[in-house]
Amino acid sequence: MKIIIMGPQGSGKTTQADLLSKKLNLPHISTGNIYRAVAKEDSEIGRKVKNYMDSGDLVDDETTFQIVDRHLGEIKSDFVIDGFPRTLIQAKRGIFPVGKVFYLQISDQQAIERLLLRKRLDDTPEVIAERLKIYHQDTEPILEYYRKQGKLIEIDGSGTVEEVYNLILQKLND
Ligand code: ADP
Repeated sequence: MKIIIMGPQGSGKTTQADLLSKKLNLPHISTGNIYRAVAKEDSEIGRKVKNYMDSGDLVDDETTFQIVDRHLGEIKSDFVIDGFPRTLIQAKRGIFPVGKVFYLQISDQQAIERLLLRKRLDDTPEVIAERLKIYHQDTEPILEYYRKQGKLIEIDGSGTVEEVYNLILQKLND
């Protein structure tokens, strides 16, 4: 079963996807991690991606499809993915059959506090505000899409890494 971990910036989706993939012995794909690596490349696509990320924008859907296709093409098993899909267009393209979607919920206030603490290079206050705005606008509509399909599992993401992980495990076999 292919599992998606969703949530706003700072919700811990990459951390939880990593834990879950290890537990299930499946590959973990994080488009955020992939894009941070691509942005360091001295190439046309590297510069393009870096520009998007520096301004807090999403990378355009066509580039994202190419990147995700390339990474998923190598994987024959199930997997745990975070950071994709991030727009309704990405979700509706149906690149892979979706089993479960875990949605880690936290407030904007908590997201901002956590992001300022982690001090990643793309986490300046202006960029954080822009990313949250885009999250509400472009990514949140996906939740309804999966909810209607009965695939969405809402998780309180406000606790510690371990608390959130345990909530996910409780719902894994429902
Ligand atoms: P965050 O959730 O904190 O924004 P991520 O590590 O998930 O962090 O992503 C970092 C950046 O990578 C995003 O701000 C965006 O520019 C880009 N990105 C990641 N996944 C996608 C995607 N599916 N579509 C478009 N852009 C993406």
